[in-house]
Amino acid sequence: MPIETLETVKDPVCGMDVEPRKAAARREFEGRTYYFCSNVCAGSFDENPRSYVDKQASPTQK
Ligand SMILES: [Zn+2]
Repeated sequence: MPIETLETVKDPVCGMDVEPRKAAARREFEGRTYYFCSNVCAGSFDENPRSYVDKQASPTQK
């Protein structure tokens, strides 16, 4: 089954669901690939990738 074509991933910057095939931008960071809905989000990721990755890996609890 072509899982890849239907699978969506979260844009780590804005939290939107993005289809990898349609993603406006993509970045590799620490061996993982991240997809973005726009170049604006990708630009924010470039500025401080770790903050977005950490946010995703361990959500802040309040
Ligand atoms: Zn976005």
